[in-house]
Amino acid sequence: MPEMHRISRFGLVNAYLVAEEDGLTVIDTMLPRSAGKVIAAAGARGAPIVRIVLTHAHGDHVGSLDELKGRLPDAEVIISARDARLLAKDMSLDPGEPRDKLRGSYPGTETLPDRTVEPGERIGSLEVVASPGHTPGHVALLDTRDRSLYCGDAYTTLGGVATPAKVNPLFPLVYMATWHRPTALDSARALRALEPARLAAGHGKVVESPAAAMDAAIARAA
Ligand SMILES: [Zn+2]
Repeated sequence: MPEMHRISRFGLVNAYLVAEEDGLTVIDTMLPRSAGKVIAAAGARGAPIVRIVLTHAHGDHVGSLDELKGRLPDAEVIISARDARLLAKDMSLDPGEPRDKLRGSYPGTETLPDRTVEPGERIGSLEVVASPGHTPGHVALLDTRDRSLYCGDAYTTLGGVATPAKVNPLFPLVYMATWHRPTALDSARALRALEPARLAAGHGKVVESPAAAMDAAIARAA
């Protein structure tokens, strides 16, 4: 099984290191002032960070991007083309998108992405999977080697497996920051259909064999 390493701040917000043959991929960057923790975790694995992938443009996922890129100027920064606009603080909606309010914090970054991706593309071993709803261009990342699903905020596991389409009283923040809840529910179903072997969310612990818990979360939100 490929190596997965979860890095957490205060047990609330996660980043992940995914081992590839050419080095490590960082998924999300947590809150500001987290770069040292990410770099230390990579150092402990003895491998360089070669790329930084963002699941979406919210502040608790992009918060240390500038600091990380400053310390790792050669790391390739990757985000979906749609959420790259939010990273640049362009808050406009596309004509075909639901007219709902963009919720949550979009602080933007000084760092520009080196590469933008569309669903279906590959980033090393990771397949980019469309999962809009929490944000318009939210993506999940499926490790094609072992079906680990890095789902960003398309599910949360803190306070139990939940979708952002219905409030989880034990951890309501991601629901409150969700743009369009019906779309988020559609995405939750699409991710469940991928039959992930484990669910690695932006908030909460990694959940092994998550199918039943994902089904229950979808049923609660439907
Ligand atoms: Zn978010």
